[in-house]
Amino acid sequence: MRVPFVDLKTQYQTIKPEIDQALADVLGNCAFIGGKYAAAFEKDFAGYIGSKHCVGVANGTDALHAAMRGLGIGPGDEVITAANTFFATAEAISHTGAVPVFVDNDPVYYNIDVEKIEAAITPKTKAIAPVHLYGQPCEIDKVMAIAEKHGLKVCEDTAQSHGAKWQGKTAGTFGDCACYSFYPGKNLGAYGDAGCMVTDSDELREWVSNFCNHGRHDHLLHGMVGVNSRMDGFQAAVLSVKLRHLETWTEARIAAASRYTDGLREVCAVPEVNADARHVFHLYVIRVANRDEFRKNMQEAGIPTGVHYLKALPLIAAYEDLGYRPEQFPVASKYQDEIVSLPMHGDLTSEQIDLVIENVRNFAQMPED
Ligand SMILES: *Cc1c(COP(=O)(O)O)cnc(C)c1O
Repeated sequence: MRVPFVDLKTQYQTIKPEIDQALADVLGNCAFIGGKYAAAFEKDFAGYIGSKHCVGVANGTDALHAAMRGLGIGPGDEVITAANTFFATAEAISHTGAVPVFVDNDPVYYNIDVEKIEAAITPKTKAIAPVHLYGQPCEIDKVMAIAEKHGLKVCEDTAQSHGAKWQGKTAGTFGDCACYSFYPGKNLGAYGDAGCMVTDSDELREWVSNFCNHGRHDHLLHGMVGVNSRMDGFQAAVLSVKLRHLETWTEARIAAASRYTDGLREVCAVPEVNADARHVFHLYVIRVANRDEFRKNMQEAGIPTGVHYLKALPLIAAYEDLGYRPEQFPVASKYQDEIVSLPMHGDLTSEQIDLVIENVRNFAQMPED
C-alpha cells in the first residue's frame, strides 16, 4: 500500500460528476477570465469566511502583493512576518518595495512568536503579515492588539488555513485583509493557480480589484499602473464545487491528525493544538532528531514525506543581504533541521494512517528540547 502525500486523484473521483459539469458549463458560456463563475465563487467564499468582500486573483502570492500595495505599503517601509513560513509571504512584501522583518517562531505552535513582535517594530514598520502556518491560527488577537497600539496595518496570510478559527472566529477576519491561495495542494485547491483577498473594506476591495485588472477603474481607462492577475472561470467553477465539500474534508483532516497524534506522541514531537484554535491541518508536521535517515526509511516504506520549510527565511540566499544570523532565530534555526511533514489530506483511510504511524514509530528519534 502506498500512502500519497496529497491525493488529488482520489478526491477528483469522489466529485467527478460535479466537476465535469462545472467545467462544461464554463466552456458553454466561454466565461474564461473573471465573469460570472468568478463572481459566484467570490460571493460564496466571502460568505464562508464571513467577510464582506472577496476579490479573486491569479494566485495567493499576487493577492498578498496587491493587498499590501492597497494598504499603502511600499519602498521605505518594513513589514513584520514569521521566520518560518513559505517564501511567498516574504516575496510579496519584497515586491511592494518594502523590506521583510523576520520574527522567530514560538517553540510550541511554530507560529510567529507574538512576545517578540514589539522588539522588531521600528519607525519604518508599516504592517504585520502574520501567517497561520500549517493550518493553525497564530495568536491573532494579540497581533491585533500590538498593531492597534502602534498604528500598524495587518494583512493575514491565510494560504494554509481555509476555515481555521481563533477563539471561535474565522482566521482571515481579524486583520485589514487576508490572502488565500488556492494552489491545487492547499486545503481548498483549484485545478491550476488561483488566489483571493478577503476584506471588509469597500475601498481596499476596489483598489485591489482595479490593480489586478491592469489598473482599470473603467473597462477602457487605466487609473494606475496595475498588474494582470485575475481569477479564471475554470478555476472559479472548480472552487465553487469544492467549497461545498471543504468542511467534510477539513473534518477528515482533523480526525486523521488526531489519530496520528495518539499514535505518535511517545516517539517524536507531535503538533500541539492551541486550546483557542481550530487547526485545519494543511500540514501535519512532526519533529525528529534524525530527519534525513528518517525520510529515507519512510520513502523506502512507500511513504513520502515533506519539509516545510528547509531553511528559515532570514537565512536563505535570497535574503542574505539583510544580514541576519541564525542566533537571532533560535527556534526557527533549530527546528528547520527537525521538522518533517507526514501525508495529510481529506481522503486518508484509517489503514493508511495506521501504516504511517507504524513506520514513524519504527524510524523516528525523539528530538532533544
Ligand atoms: C501557498 C502559500 C502562498 C502562496 O500562494 P500561491 O497561490 O502559491 O502563490 C503564500 N503563503 C503561504 C504561507 C503559502 O503556503
